[in-house]
Amino acid sequence: MRQPLVAGNWKMNGSLKANEALLGDLRKALSGGIKAEVAVCPPFVYLPQVAGLVDGQPIALGAQDLSDQDAGAFTGEVSGAMLKDLGCEYVIVGHSERRSLYGEDDEFTARKFAAARRHGLKPILCVGELLEERESGVTEQVVARQLDAVMDLEGVSALADAVVAYEPVWAIGTGKTATPEQAQAVHAFIRARVAERDAQVAEGLRILYGGSVKADNAAELFSQPDIDGGLIGGASLKAEDFMAICRAAEQAS
Ligand code: PEP
Repeated sequence: MRQPLVAGNWKMNGSLKANEALLGDLRKALSGGIKAEVAVCPPFVYLPQVAGLVDGQPIALGAQDLSDQDAGAFTGEVSGAMLKDLGCEYVIVGHSERRSLYGEDDEFTARKFAAARRHGLKPILCVGELLEERESGVTEQVVARQLDAVMDLEGVSALADAVVAYEPVWAIGTGKTATPEQAQAVHAFIRARVAERDAQVAEGLRILYGGSVKADNAAELFSQPDIDGGLIGGASLKAEDFMAICRAAEQAS
């Protein structure tokens, strides 16, 4: 039985004041507990503040990215050790915005995945196809290539304590969501791809869906057999919307 996970990717949003208000509302809403796992991934600079606000709460802390390097002359970078130091449990790697806006390719993403594991962080590996790739029928090839880069470098067992997020790029921040059937098909493909190397790891692997998940479409997406929660962008910035999504994940469990 896989425990659903709902992780909020705040992207480059937030302020000291807004974070305090958002976390205050989430803490209240979660005071009775929740069966799904909930995580928030604020920008680096707010990690110490948010670590304090989630302390003792059923809310895990994650970061949005990390360096592939461990320490040294890498101006502007943040290492896995630093994230661990601040209390992070999760770190997103290979988000499509990193891949497309900052040119991070599969090999680089795999090295970041490895860096996360070296420092005891659970990577949330994002995979997903562009619109033109879906339209030309190569979704599975793209997702397989992104996944294989990590399994080839780190071995399939590295996925045992990691999370995969399937995020079709055409659905991120666009208001266009994959239908539950489209999403389920790719999630099942991902699980089968991992199972080719290790059936047990595949069975235990949490595969999140991301891409314009909202309070009103979450339940249907999460009811699919291979969808184990969501990676939530825009809707994670509003406590009411994020909580509705977390409750939908809880009900699907
Ligand atoms: C994301 O940033 O990972 C994401 C899924 O964004 P949104 O929910 O806004 O589409």
